[in-house]
Amino acid sequence: MSDAPVVDELTPPDRTLMGPGPSDVHPRVLRAMSTPLVGHLDPSFVEIMNEVQELLRYAFRTDNRWTIPISGTGSASMEAAIGNLVEPGDTMLVPTNGYFGGRMQSMAERAGGEVVHVDAPWGEPLDPADVEAAFDEHQPDVFGFVHAETSTGVRQPNVPELTRIAHEHDAYVIADAVTSLGGVELRVDEWGVDVAYSGPQKCLSCPPGASPLTLNDRAMDKVLSREERVRSWYLDLSLLEGYWGDDRAYHHTAPITNVYALREALRLIAEEGIEARWDRHRRVAGALKAGVEAMGLEMNAPDEYWLPSLNAVRVPDGADDGAIIGYLLDEYDLEIAGGLGDLAGEIFRIGCMGHSARPKNVTYLLSSLGDALGAQGADVDADAALPAMTERLAD
Ligand SMILES: *Cc1c(COP(=O)(O)O)cnc(C)c1O
Repeated sequence: MSDAPVVDELTPPDRTLMGPGPSDVHPRVLRAMSTPLVGHLDPSFVEIMNEVQELLRYAFRTDNRWTIPISGTGSASMEAAIGNLVEPGDTMLVPTNGYFGGRMQSMAERAGGEVVHVDAPWGEPLDPADVEAAFDEHQPDVFGFVHAETSTGVRQPNVPELTRIAHEHDAYVIADAVTSLGGVELRVDEWGVDVAYSGPQKCLSCPPGASPLTLNDRAMDKVLSREERVRSWYLDLSLLEGYWGDDRAYHHTAPITNVYALREALRLIAEEGIEARWDRHRRVAGALKAGVEAMGLEMNAPDEYWLPSLNAVRVPDGADDGAIIGYLLDEYDLEIAGGLGDLAGEIFRIGCMGHSARPKNVTYLLSSLGDALGAQGADVDADAALPAMTERLAD
């Protein structure tokens, strides 16, 4: 046997996180994470669970009883939504206009579903007329869409219209709200969304580990009357009901520290007010947008479906996106990301989420990006960014 490995004390670099997630974690959330543990069935923890559920309902704008954090990252709440709703033989309609529609497809297929598509180019939202046509053609049982497509910086508008179409065809609607919850207007009940899932490390500014999920009674009735058991034991909502429902019986050990973190992150939302928080994201990301546009860069999405929490900025001609992203990380400890799929090499993805959606971060981003582009020889007017940003913030 070898000797015990000698590993240095943990000292990761001090990054500013403005990529597609994780975002900067609020110091109060970090402090909550050093709170001593209690047992996951401790009466005090049951109280904390109730509070988290209540705070989640507030953030989702829902009265759904079935509003819980799923243990795991956003993909776990995503798989809980799809894996429980989609039964073998069901048809699920998924979008092709971004990376996460593809993940929806993989999950629906693993659940035994048939997948059909509604198309739009990467970088554009779904057109309700196309959704209607897909419903007429395929009569899907479940329709999934991505409210805030992190891979393209597109916000899906017209959500109430999409849910109306689905309900006229007796289908269930699943919304991916991973990059919208707590950052972009989202009204689960008013908009008729049957199931919505999210993640903690985007606009909630919380570390990954406990991921919000909400289902209305209609959706939960479908889950509880399934003929075949859900294929994942861990994510089976009929079993999780025993833990998050009235019984509070053991299913698995909740990630207690992550639940503490989520509670504090949600408390920050309640203090700020959810609508004020949506406004802050629009205002601060709007200043970021004004800054990059003043530099001479172009946003990939027009205003009608611009996504404040994830800004897709076109890479200027002749610039190398990878070199710029690397320069920002090396010189400024600043994280942004490049494009994926059809938009690889075409866009920068700049997050403006939660605790990162602050003028301080935007100032830093604009001045660092201006320097990085200049160092690459890109033809931009870096000096114009900050005045445009300040002017927009003063509006
Ligand atoms: C990040 C993200 C996910 C997946 O979340 P993970 O926490 O990475 O598992 C799903 N959908 C969208 C839109 C996302 O941005």
